[in-house]
Amino acid sequence: MIGDLGRAILPSAMDQAFIKEMKQALEKEKGRLEAELKGFTHRDKHTGATFNADFPSYGEKDEDNATEVADFTDNLALERTLEGKLDDVLKALERVAKGTYGTCKYCGKPIDESRLRARPESASCVKCKTERLQRL
Ligand SMILES: [Zn+2]
Repeated sequence: MIGDLGRAILPSAMDQAFIKEMKQALEKEKGRLEAELKGFTHRDKHTGATFNADFPSYGEKDEDNATEVADFTDNLALERTLEGKLDDVLKALERVAKGTYGTCKYCGKPIDESRLRARPESASCVKCKTERLQRL
């Protein structure tokens, strides 16, 4: 951990105890998201890195097929949401490892601790996030 500290590029290095706390929160969230994804998806056979929603099988009747398609569509949407969130969490953990955690990816300024506490995977400060949302 000391080695990581040396590489930190933050002008005012963030409180290491706080980063450790956020890292624990991120790892917990990662486990939760992976467990949730495992419930209705299977890992991509080829890459092993991405998840694919399982296609449910209820029966051969028309109404069974309709339910299968509807549930599969729901699973796909949920899979995308969870996978996107997991991706954010993994990227945040990478930033922890690199010593750049807690810095806004747009302006390079430290992100508010209160924001990180509410959403540990945040990659941008409130100001940049708001500016970007307004442009949409
Ligand atoms: Zn910013």
